[in-house]
Amino acid sequence: MHITLYRKYRPKDFEEIAGEQEIVQTLKNALKSNRLAHAYLFTGPRGVGKTSIARLMAKGINCLTNGITDNPCNVCENCLEISAGNFLDLIEIDAASNRGIDEIRQLKEKINYRPSKGRKKVYIIDEVHMLTKEAFNALLKTLEEPPEHVLFILATTEPDKILPTIISRCQRYDFKVINYKDTREKLLYIASQEGYSIDEESLVAIYENSGGSMRDSVSTLERLIINTENKNIVIESTEKVLGITPIKKIDKFIEIVEKSNQSDGVEFLEDIWKNSIDIELFFKDLAKRSKEKILTGDIKVNRGLKIIDTIYDVLGKFHFEEDKKLVGYVILNRLTEKEEVREVIIEKVVEKVIEKKQVVSNNNEEEIEEVEVSVTIDEIKNMWEKLLTEAKKKKLTFGAFLVKAYPKDIKDNFLIVEFPKDSSFAMEMMVSEPYRSIFLEVVRNVTNSKIKVKYELQESRNREKVSEDDDFSKKIIDFFGGEII
Ligand SMILES: [Zn+2]
Repeated sequence: MHITLYRKYRPKDFEEIAGEQEIVQTLKNALKSNRLAHAYLFTGPRGVGKTSIARLMAKGINCLTNGITDNPCNVCENCLEISAGNFLDLIEIDAASNRGIDEIRQLKEKINYRPSKGRKKVYIIDEVHMLTKEAFNALLKTLEEPPEHVLFILATTEPDKILPTIISRCQRYDFKVINYKDTREKLLYIASQEGYSIDEESLVAIYENSGGSMRDSVSTLERLIINTENKNIVIESTEKVLGITPIKKIDKFIEIVEKSNQSDGVEFLEDIWKNSIDIELFFKDLAKRSKEKILTGDIKVNRGLKIIDTIYDVLGKFHFEEDKKLVGYVILNRLTEKEEVREVIIEKVVEKVIEKKQVVSNNNEEEIEEVEVSVTIDEIKNMWEKLLTEAKKKKLTFGAFLVKAYPKDIKDNFLIVEFPKDSSFAMEMMVSEPYRSIFLEVVRNVTNSKIKVKYELQESRNREKVSEDDDFSKKIIDFFGGEII
């Protein structure tokens, strides 16, 4: 008979149980002090040790050497028979495979018979939520008043499907998934006992693939052992056996995403398509890998979350799209968008819009106003120094912006302030707020008139053309400590 590794390495005593230390401790205490309930309900994901612990309880109750104990001897007849799975007073019912009708009927008929070799008959009913209604009702009657010599251990992956009347008659323990550390330890132990070495990446891959089920992890290890010829289990063969995307490929894709290299990304997707790697699975593996990398600090948390979020968002939205390569392109595009660049572009656009508005208002806004200007250009030329002094009192930067500017003319109630060609930057600053308004106010106060101000570049009326390298003005701004507003 073929004995699977899981059965071979099933915990023989409570010390060998992986994880669930609190539950194990509570049950051990109950055995030690012989304060057992009539019925237990073990809930939790598949393969996390519910029935293994149930069998250990049967052993602890029926050990011939140590009495009712949390430390069964594992050598007496009862212990050995329980380990071998042929102990008459341990009755295991798998409700998932036959829904238990006959067994529950038999159970009802035989339940009053004393145990044949042990202290108590232990009934383990696995996947108890699968029982038919009739079987459930029969069980319920039995649970109401079980004989002293009977212990029930019900196990289920779906406690929500169990009648509250059943649950209320049981002591309930909720099992969690096994963590990586405990799984790793057990896998390493089994591998070494079997004479195999296994690399760290394979251990992680097995665990990730198991969904936290110890049974699945161990059976994967068994498949790997069968498929390994030289007694060294390495990630390359693990990936093949598990049918998962090679980690190297995933890391390569993460690199492409980090560099926002779209053409490499397209080529990459083409490549995995040609290698008949399932694209949807690839992205799910990528999400898992990102999760690992977040936890190890190999990728920034926000980047990792962005990858995971994008993958599941797009896979969800395009669930019915049959061309998965297209879906891959969508994910690639979303992951390689340069957000920073987009923000800068938006800022630039906003700036331009504001600039335009200001230029427009500089020209038109105040033309609506009724104005009377009595001041002449010569008068303004004479009071220019005073104007600058007053302006600098409001804002020191005016000294820099207006250092090369001069009053040129008055036309249609506009004072024309002209800038030399190399001062377009300074002029643009004067056109923009708050400088425009402040200086206008200063001019009106000093000249005691309702004059308006227009700025012009020498020999050019094209104000919108801004020279980027207006070094002189920029240097002056630097000189004033970079005060811009
Ligand atoms: Zn024993």
